[in-house]
Amino acid sequence: MIVMKFGGTSVGSAEAIRRLVDIVRGRLDRKPVIVVSAVSGVTNRLIAAAQTAQKRGTEPERAVKELARIHQVILDELRLPHTLVQEPLTRLGEVLKGIYYLRELTPRSLDYVVSFGEIMSSRIVAAHLTAEHLTAKAYTGWDVGIVTDDRYGEAEILPETYPRIRKRFLPEAEQTIAVVTGFIARNKAGERTTLGRGGSDYTAAIIGRGVGAEEIQIWTDVSGILSADPRVVSEAFTLRELTFDEASELAYFGAKVLHPKTIEPAVQADIPVRILNSFKPDDPGTVVTRESGARSERVVEGLAVKRGNSLVNFTSTRMLEAGGYMAQLFDIFRRHNISIDVIATSEVSVSVTVDGSCVGRLEQAMPELRKFSRVRIDPNRAIVCVVGEGMQVQPGIAGRIFKTMGDAAINIEMISQGSSELNVTFVVTDEDANRAMQALHAEFLTGQERAAP
Ligand code: ADP
Ligand code: ASP
Ligand code: MG
Repeated sequence: MIVMKFGGTSVGSAEAIRRLVDIVRGRLDRKPVIVVSAVSGVTNRLIAAAQTAQKRGTEPERAVKELARIHQVILDELRLPHTLVQEPLTRLGEVLKGIYYLRELTPRSLDYVVSFGEIMSSRIVAAHLTAEHLTAKAYTGWDVGIVTDDRYGEAEILPETYPRIRKRFLPEAEQTIAVVTGFIARNKAGERTTLGRGGSDYTAAIIGRGVGAEEIQIWTDVSGILSADPRVVSEAFTLRELTFDEASELAYFGAKVLHPKTIEPAVQADIPVRILNSFKPDDPGTVVTRESGARSERVVEGLAVKRGNSLVNFTSTRMLEAGGYMAQLFDIFRRHNISIDVIATSEVSVSVTVDGSCVGRLEQAMPELRKFSRVRIDPNRAIVCVVGEGMQVQPGIAGRIFKTMGDAAINIEMISQGSSELNVTFVVTDEDANRAMQALHAEFLTGQERAAP
């Protein structure tokens, strides 16, 4: 069995869905399970619709009409009936009205609103597969057995998920081509949750582990994981093989092509993850495995950047005297549910980066933090991450990285090296981020595409 996940652009038009069917048809002997994202742009529209309703901007009907139109254009071209998406759209309209009248949008109701994107796309894809004479059926994340905790917007799956997938879903998936909604699930109370933006990749990996798949395929709009985001570095090239660790680092530090949690279930069950281009299905793409066989001679494999962070600096002379300073400091972060990405310390200061999504919680924590230490916050900071297993063995790479930044007149504000020595991570301003990526790519990667073993 293989799991094949198709992202927003890969289900984004009638043409894309026809291509999807061709790709699936060519792999029927491997018993595919399909996971789909919402049609591209739909999740953003749903979020905007919910926020507009809360602020009593325009009437919710307008947003529902627009979403209906997007899906109906696809249905018309595929000669499928509009009724396929009628019920989700009606429900969506009701929920948006509720938000509009109450002027209240909770994380729980936002997840409910957002869930309709994947529900609609999965129905369309399953119906088109059926029209093309394949046996297919649409499933939601909860139909297949995914159960999460209550962290709306960023839910984590509960361990019973895997046995449930195996018992309930696997026998059905043997009989029919299941088309499963990515990204969405339910908690124990039966309320809808989501796995974080871009979370359909994670759904695919969860199902892959649950059914014991031989491979998890992520079909997207680029030919695999590239040496850098092609929108930032035009010379970026496909990395043919990566280890789970390398791919995790790149994904965690901003390579949007793969949701950072995708690798976790794949590692646990030792299932290869292959990233492929649905627009160019014959391109080899990237394969991610525990150990990559034939390694290239490149020291640096890839670059990633995560923008919109705040750099928080603490200075206190108490650090020198008192033990437990760090524990107390990080306890404040823990209590306010603020996650930290990069940490650097000296005798009298601690610097951490906090993701942009935590800014509100950071503000709430400020009175407590101020009591404890002098605090300075620098917003709009980017974390640049240089990844490669080759860095473990070759000395002097950090020096070359920082010289490259110096030559480009880019100021480095903080440096951290992961314990695995698999990456070097540093902080620059958001403004400098693209130039940093381009300079590093030119120094370490451009022209290295065929650096064969
Ligand atoms: P999907 O909708 O298929 O999930 P995403 O938009 O989430 O697709 O991810 C694919 C995009 O990720 C690419 O179009 C590319 O612009 C971006 N990206 C960022 N970093 C990388 C990278 N290192 N390699 C490939 N793509 C990357
Ligand atoms: N549709 C969701 C999003 O846009 C999940 C995904 O695409 O993976 O974030
Ligand atoms: Mg994605």
